[in-house]
Amino acid sequence: MSPKISVIHADITELAVDAIVNAANASLLGGGGVDGAIHRRAGPELLVECRSLGGCATGDAKLTKAYRLPAKYVIHTVGPVWRGGRENEATLLSACYRNSLRLALAHRLESLAFPCISTGIYGYPPREAAAIAVDSVVGFLDGQAHRLAVTFCCFSEADLQIYRALLNRPV
Ligand code: ADP
Repeated sequence: MSPKISVIHADITELAVDAIVNAANASLLGGGGVDGAIHRRAGPELLVECRSLGGCATGDAKLTKAYRLPAKYVIHTVGPVWRGGRENEATLLSACYRNSLRLALAHRLESLAFPCISTGIYGYPPREAAAIAVDSVVGFLDGQAHRLAVTFCCFSEADLQIYRALLNRPV
């Protein structure tokens, strides 16, 4: 496993990385969960910039500044709502990770933290979502020349255990 991939148990709004990823909704106008926490901590300027973006399709990603957050940028991505698994959810969730990474590399970022996209209000089963997250990130970065360190930021102890097992790290 690449040493540039790690997992931590933390509130993503406290991470001083180049970019944190927001599990946003298609309007990009804020919501609950991690989205609400990011907007609260970033301040109202983030919403002003988000309004100018015209929303975001599921699986896509868009970058903004991070304003009062300790990170430099926020990459907003829209995960799929879980509808039982037969509505392309896995492909769309993987696209969230890959498109966020693509943006990070395009902006020459060196550190990026992901929350567990879609596993809150959007209802994606946490184990399946974590496997997709890890496979997508490892698959995307594999063989690329890059300086990007990726952190999976788990808000719950349960997610931390899942990611540690997948990344083969001691519990
Ligand atoms: P979604 O709508 O994509 O399901 P949620 O925000 O409801 O998004 O949940 C996505 C994940 O973000 C969940 O695993 C939730 O526990 C986690 N989460 C919520 N708040 C934070 C936070 N401050 N930092 C990191 N992760 C968070």
